[in-house]
Amino acid sequence: MSTKTHKISVDNITIDVVRKNIKNLHLAVYPPYGRVRIATPRHIDDEALRLFAISKLSWIKKHRSKFKQQKCQSPREYVSGESHYYKGQRYLLNVIYQKAPFRNKAEIRNKKYLDLYVREGSNKQQRRRVLTEWYRHQLKYLIPGLIEKWEGTIGVKTNDWGVKRMKTKWGTCNVRAKRVWINLELAKRPPQCLEYILVHELVHLLERNHNIRFTSYMDKFLSNWRFIKEELNSFPISYGDWDY
Ligand SMILES: [Zn+2]
Repeated sequence: MSTKTHKISVDNITIDVVRKNIKNLHLAVYPPYGRVRIATPRHIDDEALRLFAISKLSWIKKHRSKFKQQKCQSPREYVSGESHYYKGQRYLLNVIYQKAPFRNKAEIRNKKYLDLYVREGSNKQQRRRVLTEWYRHQLKYLIPGLIEKWEGTIGVKTNDWGVKRMKTKWGTCNVRAKRVWINLELAKRPPQCLEYILVHELVHLLERNHNIRFTSYMDKFLSNWRFIKEELNSFPISYGDWDY
């Protein structure tokens, strides 16, 4: 975490505070997770910012719930024009139907579109499967480098890892088998969320339980983990997309 940004908390809402050479306070709520940020002139202290945020609380909550509703929208149809997330960014799905010979694939285009190439006549389940496999492929590409980095830092060694759909957990660690599972949903979240979950699961190889010792390891290895955890859990783990 940059030292320039710090956080205050109002009514259980964490607010990122950025002090800059500006004249006016600027408050914003950002999609997709409803992150709240205040940019402020340098001379305004945290207590004044807290009072300011309290005065804007209904506005903040209104916008956060709007994002949550968008996120919990009706089940996806996997058709062009829908919003889909990858690494915390929103993309517009663009379905391209191909005649034979075809190759199922997905790719990001112009930082805006998520092109989904499917066979002509594909149904919703088939389109969803192509996208799901793409997410899985992306995670499997990202994870080995992260595991290698963090195994070195933490001083542990895994025997195996994998990616799967999980409804109630972001990751699991079988301490005896030294096997880590990562939730497929993390492909949609900001990359630091994936890294945080990996660190958490690897730390279990040092400490099985969520106790003070565990927390102090987390503080040591990933000092901003609380912030990432909050970001990650600002939405329910299953909101329909993976329910099949
Ligand atoms: Zn745990």
